[in-house]
Amino acid sequence: MTTVIQAYRYALDPTPRQRRALASHCGAARYAYNWGLQLVQQRLEQRRAGEDIEVPWTLPTLRWQWNRAKHQVAPWWAENSRDAYASGLDGLARALKNFSDSKAGRRKGRRMGFPRPKRKGRCRDACRFTTGPLRVEADRHHITLPRLGNLKTHESTRKLARRLEQGTARIIAAAISRTADRWFVSFTVEVQRTIPASNRKPSVVGVDVGVRHLAVLSTGQAIPNPRALERSLRKLSRLNRQLHHHKPGSSHRHQSRRRLAQVHARAANLRRDALHKLTRSLATEHGTIVVEQLNLAGMVRNRRLARALSDSGLAELRRQLTYKTSWYGSRLIVADPFYPSSKTCSACRWVKAKLTLAERTFCCEACGLRIDRDLNAARNLAKLAQYVAQSGWETPNARGADRKTQPAGQVAMKREAGTEPRSGKTGTVQPQGRTA
Ligand SMILES: [Zn+2]
Repeated sequence: MTTVIQAYRYALDPTPRQRRALASHCGAARYAYNWGLQLVQQRLEQRRAGEDIEVPWTLPTLRWQWNRAKHQVAPWWAENSRDAYASGLDGLARALKNFSDSKAGRRKGRRMGFPRPKRKGRCRDACRFTTGPLRVEADRHHITLPRLGNLKTHESTRKLARRLEQGTARIIAAAISRTADRWFVSFTVEVQRTIPASNRKPSVVGVDVGVRHLAVLSTGQAIPNPRALERSLRKLSRLNRQLHHHKPGSSHRHQSRRRLAQVHARAANLRRDALHKLTRSLATEHGTIVVEQLNLAGMVRNRRLARALSDSGLAELRRQLTYKTSWYGSRLIVADPFYPSSKTCSACRWVKAKLTLAERTFCCEACGLRIDRDLNAARNLAKLAQYVAQSGWETPNARGADRKTQPAGQVAMKREAGTEPRSGKTGTVQPQGRTA
């Protein structure tokens, strides 16, 4: 038995009164964050002016300052749970730490700037609870949170409730958040799991994520999008076109934006649920699963809806597979971003110079193979597992999963038309280029 931390997320069906309370808690978190930030800035200035004064930089010091000041600056503080303020201050303490770590070179990745104030409607509405009642009720359709009380969940909490009843799970925190107009609760749960060392299944499967299908497997199986998702996607592309017909800054534009965000959130939820089913069956039925690497540079730059959707689907697939392969003892291989899985012939390894997103069929000019584009890509991904086996290279699951592999002798190629940085050049891209 191993203890893993798992999140269980449920959409809520709050009453109008509860909606106000949810918004109030997120507002309180934002208020405390901004208050703390102002205090830090003020103290920094005083220090720069030569005063010997302490600058609160950590959660305990920020909380201490807040508790001293709250009666003055927020006489209404008792309306919300104290976790709301702690949650905002915690966010600030993390942002401050990220900033100083980044400045000192202790943090990888993008350079972090000094925290900026959070503006209503411009930041994510969220608030985290760690104390007080955090419960999933026995009727499996209600949860209880501090101050907010009994809230109805949109879907059944069966899976979590069952684990809690069996005593194999313990709730350690709960966070509320809003996406478009929908409220969610996410429980952070400590779960007892038996994790097999390896499921030793010899089967290898390559998975290509798309927009037309939820996924195409190298076995030839195409997993269709659920019907509700299909509908959401059609609506999404229509709204996306409409948005650009309205003038920026107009109320029509504002309205379309809001509507678009709602449909986007719904589509993402539907796809996440469908992917959960898929990733579970992949991780239990196969020994090795190969997926594409997400092209982050391309993701930021690409503004085409189809590409953005398939990228977010891929990100979600990988996220789920990363932990599920470790739960079920299978292994995950992530292809190098420059592995030309779409442009290579899965029969003879001939590489096509250019393949646009509109070309749905891959036609090999060397051996004459005609095959569905996504299936071809999935087969190439599955082939990658052989190279990996030959070189003795293994992907550890979980955090190590983003290590990259590339079969020897492959030319570093641009991944796909339309995903390259804006340079517009064709030909090869140096692998170093991806971190630039
Ligand atoms: Zn061929």
